[in-house]
Amino acid sequence: MAPEERIAGASLEVRDLAVVYSDVIHALRGVTFSVPGGSIVALLGANGAGKTTVLRAATGLLPMHRGRTVRGGIELDGTPLGRRGAVDLVRAGVAQVMEGRRIFAPLTVEENLRTGAFSRTDRTAVAASRDRVLELFPDLRGRLDDVAGYLSGGQQQMLAIGRALMAGPRLLVLDEPSLGLAPLMVRQIRDAIVAINEAGTTVLLVEQNARMALAIADRGVVMATGRVALDGPADALLADPQVQASYLGGTVGEPLPDAVAQALPDTGEPA
Ligand code: ATP
Repeated sequence: MAPEERIAGASLEVRDLAVVYSDVIHALRGVTFSVPGGSIVALLGANGAGKTTVLRAATGLLPMHRGRTVRGGIELDGTPLGRRGAVDLVRAGVAQVMEGRRIFAPLTVEENLRTGAFSRTDRTAVAASRDRVLELFPDLRGRLDDVAGYLSGGQQQMLAIGRALMAGPRLLVLDEPSLGLAPLMVRQIRDAIVAINEAGTTVLLVEQNARMALAIADRGVVMATGRVALDGPADALLADPQVQASYLGGTVGEPLPDAVAQALPDTGEPA
């Protein structure tokens, strides 16, 4: 690895974060957890638990979804994010890969990678990041001039992660990177996440594949109905019977109770 690619991972502190959508839907009801610099933290929970909302808050994307913080907040390296927007946060070192591999389908692979470096002016560092992406994802090497929309699902996910890496992030936020991928692809993506983290970047990982996520994470945070239900070392969560029953048995969580709880008026009481 090129020495300039060694990265000082950023830390994230989520403190008593409460978020509403459209002023009525209470998606987060006071969420607190830490993502230490240089660690991998897995954020788990049933559909609708609030995982994506935490990521949106961390990456400045809440307003785009008519969401707003009503209490608490997030600190990046000890500094409150406040109302910093998405572009500002990319400049501060936060890059994200949204759910659903949002690549630019009509652009080539090379062009997609270049868009990821929009916030950087140091050409040498950008070239080093590109080398690093192609080292991590050799599948992309022979496809640089191909239109991204024609890549396989796994290759599109590699490109989405690669594009995020082109920003030289100190914190990488990943929403369901293994979703819909074949086991071999999941392993490649998993190995890439580990390698990215080993080079210093902090990783906040939302995954339905809780087993994979906890296998590579330092800590796991399990959310339920907008709150943190469990928070602990990943290996302890892997061994936890409650986690095993709800998240490691094949199906994920208990969507029905969550959906019912979300539909109830917010009383301010724990769900
Ligand atoms: P999933 O695994 O299904 O993506 P999640 O844990 O990421 O779920 P969120 O997507 O954060 O959960 O959703 C938390 C709650 O907020 C849910 O009740 C969801 O319906 C609601 N919600 C999410 N986005 C919006 C939005 N833009 N407008 C209104 N409500 C929203």
